[in-house]
Amino acid sequence: MDKPVEDKPIKIHGVKKLQFTDGEADKAKTVDRGGTRGDYIGEFTVTAYCACQECCEKPKDHPEYGITASGRKVREGVTIAADWRVLPEGSKVYIEGIGERTVWDKGGAIKGKRIDVYLPNHKDTKKFGKQKLKVYKIGG
Ligand SMILES: [Zn+2]
Repeated sequence: MDKPVEDKPIKIHGVKKLQFTDGEADKAKTVDRGGTRGDYIGEFTVTAYCACQECCEKPKDHPEYGITASGRKVREGVTIAADWRVLPEGSKVYIEGIGERTVWDKGGAIKGKRIDVYLPNHKDTKKFGKQKLKVYKIGG
């Protein structure tokens, strides 16, 4: 992950109060969507990242540690980074073998058909490596 892009102010105050009340996490676990996984949009190169300094260049005591480009805190089972020109902020996708995720982040290296999946620890991101996976766009 690169440093957050400066064109969008990130709200630092009140970040800890950020609540997900729309059931995103629960929905993320649902892979069976009545026989449809959405529209197939191609094979993406999928990697993983965590909130650590190596991945995001922000130390643990940084006020924006774990805060995505959308201003939301990273969330296991929900957050992915994508190229917002390909998959705009808030897009929901189904990734083959991984499940449903939402685009809440982006990164300098995440261009074109690239997805970076948030995982809570760095060891798992290394284990994840780089995979070519089929991606489906869910909803509009
Ligand atoms: Zn990391």
